[in-house]
Amino acid sequence: MCSEDQAIEILNRGGVVAIPTETVYGLAAQIDKPEALKKIFQTKERPFFDPLIVHVYSAQQAKDYCDEWPPVAQILADNFWPGPLTLVLPKNEKISPLITAGLDTVGLRCPRHEKTLSILRKIQIPLAAPSANKFGKTSPTSAQHVAESLPGIQVLDGGECEVGIESTIVAVKTEPQLQIELLRPGMVPWGEIKKTLKNYTVEYIEGNKEILAPGSLDDHYMPDIPLVLLEQNMSDKTLLDSVNKKLKLHFSSFVNMDLPEENYMAARVLYSRLREAGKCKEDFIVLKVKPFMLEEAWAPLWDRLKKASSLKI
Ligand code: AMP
Ligand code: MG
Repeated sequence: MCSEDQAIEILNRGGVVAIPTETVYGLAAQIDKPEALKKIFQTKERPFFDPLIVHVYSAQQAKDYCDEWPPVAQILADNFWPGPLTLVLPKNEKISPLITAGLDTVGLRCPRHEKTLSILRKIQIPLAAPSANKFGKTSPTSAQHVAESLPGIQVLDGGECEVGIESTIVAVKTEPQLQIELLRPGMVPWGEIKKTLKNYTVEYIEGNKEILAPGSLDDHYMPDIPLVLLEQNMSDKTLLDSVNKKLKLHFSSFVNMDLPEENYMAARVLYSRLREAGKCKEDFIVLKVKPFMLEEAWAPLWDRLKKASSLKI
């Protein structure tokens, strides 16, 4: 663990440090330090083709790193920042291709956590910060989770994450017409974004997987033992037989996991429940799919559950 001043010192000298945000803990590096950016990828064992989100303390600062900052970007920032919304916009030369995996756009977000906002204001350099976990594994929502996932990395403890899952990501394009594309669902609802821009003529696009979005890779957020999503009623024996047959394994036990019905509560506890369940002595985790999980409000949660799971029965 480290203090805010120590975190700033680590960042200034080109190191990486885990920082709290309202979504999940991030593994941060200053964007003007290429060696530090490389350390993010090495520490996470993250492939270089997966771009990083850049964290800023204000829309004013975000603008400094964009080739274009259309009025709708300002409106979205005014309405949802600080908060769990990432805007993907054309980048300028101040953003290294290391951050964007060579894309000519950058993902920007102003997080809603006082400790991280305070660091951003003090250093005046944005921070690239993907989730502070090994690539493909469950994201951390407490300092303790980070310590377990990335031993040896200093963590600034900011308590448990209030939102609990990664930001909503939208790409904003103005040519040939105004277009907003949902790249990743999150707790800023897609419907709220549309409502906020009701005075604009916008083409909305959902679910285009051509641009890489986090978790467009099918395996993501994975717990330490397989997660099975159970959509049918069946006996324990039938379930075991079915899982063994489908996964070609010889499992003999499982643990049940559940989630609160209220979507914001469910998001807040999702990753800690997955981690907890992953530590048990049983062979796999079962989440029984309930009708409320299929409702629109659960879309961001369902997105994570699908990617974290190994099987749906
Ligand atoms: P995270 O792992 O939560 O930090 O989220 C990073 C994700 O944001 C990446 O996996 C990307 O898919 C997405 N992202 C970041 N920058 C861009 C970009 N320029 N274009 C499209 N997606 C982006
Ligand atoms: Mg991640």
